[in-house]
Amino acid sequence: LILHSHDLQETLDNIVALVSKRMNSEVCSIYLLDDDGETLRLHATKGLARASVGSITMNVSEGLTGLVVEQRSVVSLENAQEHPRYKYFKESGEERYHSFLGIPMFERKSPVGVIVVQHRDPRSYTPTEISTLSTIAYQIASIVINAKLLDSIRCKDEERARLEQQLKKMHPVDVALTAEKSAAADKPAAFVGTAVSPGFATGGIYLLNRRNPLRASIVETALPPEEELHRLTMALEKARIQTIYMEKRVAERLSEEDAAIFHTHLMILEDRGFIAKIHDLVAREFGAARAVQEVVCHYIDAFSNMTDPYLQSRSADMEDIGRRIIDALDGNDAAAPQLLEKRLLVAAEILPSDLAILDLDNVLGIVTERGDVNSHAAIISRSLGIPAVVGVDGLLRSLSLKDEMIIDGNSGHIYINPVKSIKVEYERLNKDYSTRREELEGLASTPAITRDGYRISLKANIGLISDIRMAAANGAEGGGLYRTEFPFMARRQFPDRNEQQLIYSRILDGFPGQQVTFRTLDIGGDKALPYFDHPQEDNPFMGWRAIRIFLERRDIFKDQLAAIMIASAGRSSRIMFPMISGVDELLLIRAIVDEVKDELTAAGVQFNPAVPLGIMIEIPAAVQTAPLLAKHADFISIGTNDLIQYTLAADRNNAKVKNYYNPYHPAILHSIRQVAAAAASAKIPVSLCGEMASDPLSALLLAGMGISELSMASPAIPFVKQAICGTTMAAAQKVAADVLQLSGCEEVAAYLKDAGLELGIVC
Ligand code: PEP
Ligand code: MG
Repeated sequence: LILHSHDLQETLDNIVALVSKRMNSEVCSIYLLDDDGETLRLHATKGLARASVGSITMNVSEGLTGLVVEQRSVVSLENAQEHPRYKYFKESGEERYHSFLGIPMFERKSPVGVIVVQHRDPRSYTPTEISTLSTIAYQIASIVINAKLLDSIRCKDEERARLEQQLKKMHPVDVALTAEKSAAADKPAAFVGTAVSPGFATGGIYLLNRRNPLRASIVETALPPEEELHRLTMALEKARIQTIYMEKRVAERLSEEDAAIFHTHLMILEDRGFIAKIHDLVAREFGAARAVQEVVCHYIDAFSNMTDPYLQSRSADMEDIGRRIIDALDGNDAAAPQLLEKRLLVAAEILPSDLAILDLDNVLGIVTERGDVNSHAAIISRSLGIPAVVGVDGLLRSLSLKDEMIIDGNSGHIYINPVKSIKVEYERLNKDYSTRREELEGLASTPAITRDGYRISLKANIGLISDIRMAAANGAEGGGLYRTEFPFMARRQFPDRNEQQLIYSRILDGFPGQQVTFRTLDIGGDKALPYFDHPQEDNPFMGWRAIRIFLERRDIFKDQLAAIMIASAGRSSRIMFPMISGVDELLLIRAIVDEVKDELTAAGVQFNPAVPLGIMIEIPAAVQTAPLLAKHADFISIGTNDLIQYTLAADRNNAKVKNYYNPYHPAILHSIRQVAAAAASAKIPVSLCGEMASDPLSALLLAGMGISELSMASPAIPFVKQAICGTTMAAAQKVAADVLQLSGCEEVAAYLKDAGLELGIVC
């Protein structure tokens, strides 16, 4: 339905028909919010009077449907008419229906409408029905948003004259930009962005400039319109096929999240209004390529003029699509320019299609104007292990193709045509860094053993499939923390048990002969699933998050536990539960795991019944009760990222309090020591998987405190390994004993720095 939606109304009609059939409901209706954000209007229905479509409206403060929007949450009622918010619309004929299930639809947290299912007989809706309909609601929201995007262009015909004028003006601007670039050429300049992948790179640049190719002048063909139309039809079909292919390729190379954008591309390629506009120009004797260029540029300008940054970013998608169609018309299959020599890739942003088609082997480093740590550029650069800096505002305006550039992926600095002294300095840094990396690479296959023979296991924190490659390259001894929420975030609905099982198997395949620790879903706080209806909370980090959610949503929890145990048949894995605050929770979890095992056994499914069950210590209450928890846990892992924020009352994402958020605070160090001691007396393994583990000096201290496993982002493993291999356990224990006597963060930092220097640890 989604991929073949030519028209919003047709799609909504099809959806209500399909949902009511599948849910055996007498009624399924979709209400959308008008632009005023307050009026809900019936847009499609199966079951209510057809004539009421478009005419039934209500304020969000009225009726049960309004209640869904107001509360931003599911309303499920066995007998709707008894509810004080029930509002009867005579024209709808809905008095016959008793039960009511309403699910909100969101666009990036703002409600866009409601999908409602009604049954004639009073009945209560099961959690599975609610989660299924929530998934559907999420899909509809994306269709509505895309359709609105296209509509916003259709409806702006009166603005057309203005936009066309702007379009005319754009060409001289492009020329001016080029002139400005050459004036700026050779001038040194420096920028700072966000460092997202470490290392240094120097070289010529490859400018991924999407604007000029699409706007470049196109020589008109002289073919008659019918032939041009035929060429266009073939090219659109080819572009659609290419888009499906790219989606598959990106999903395989990176993640499904990266691939999801191609759904939107397909919708645009199928959109009647878009195609009609191109046809219109072809009929007016434009060649097909010129016609595509005109229409796409018109759309791009319309998107770029929008104030909403999300909508603005759609202009890049339009450009991507336009280039794809013109390439198909030209018979040019290599849609991306080839990177024939090793250079630095610079772009406003890296698009999904770039990931699918660029030859990334010749990319020395990546810099983008937009983006953050989770942008496409950051993800690819980390998976390729090349330096990258993102969010470098205004960079493209100051660049010309002749420029030379230095990327410092450690500090986020960018130098264009650097002066000699900076070049020399970076040559030295780069040489040192490369030598160090080479030395460290030599360590990849050796274990981290102190000089007096104590082994510390160094494992990888993973979330994306691409992390597996980095884990192996850096010599990780397994996956110490697999954040399972990542694949959930990349989807448009809860993956079912089979899908999860496939993902988990793929992760286990990536660590042959090694152990992977699966952490159950840790959502809430700052991590949301777009399709999971989360209540608005004043204090989400203290709210309904992680295990707290899934002890309520047992259906989802049990599916995940089953999927992990099935994928683990014959392999080594552990299951770890986040945000544990006390023994009762752990006992309840153990009972649920036993239920899942019984169900799997009864169903005759092969699974691993002996997967160890462990807990994360992230809440101060868990530190205090560690000896009690340790009696019921098979292992413990300390999550310092959260433990620090809860112990020191300093939000981990709030820059204003970053001075308070300090792993060296004695409260944190004593907590870790206490937990390590509790694990030792219970004779269970203890690890630490917060960011703290990736700092070589902290690693030394942690080893000295009795933490025998450290799990971290893979690139840090060689550095920590070098620190561990270069010291003795006796020295580490002395460091720990001394540090535990100190009373302030700065004293601890200074002590560790000195100890590091003495022991020859380079950070
Ligand atoms: C932690 O809190 O330390 C941790 C490892 O979990 P996350 O960063 O995913 O919250
Ligand atoms: Mg945590």
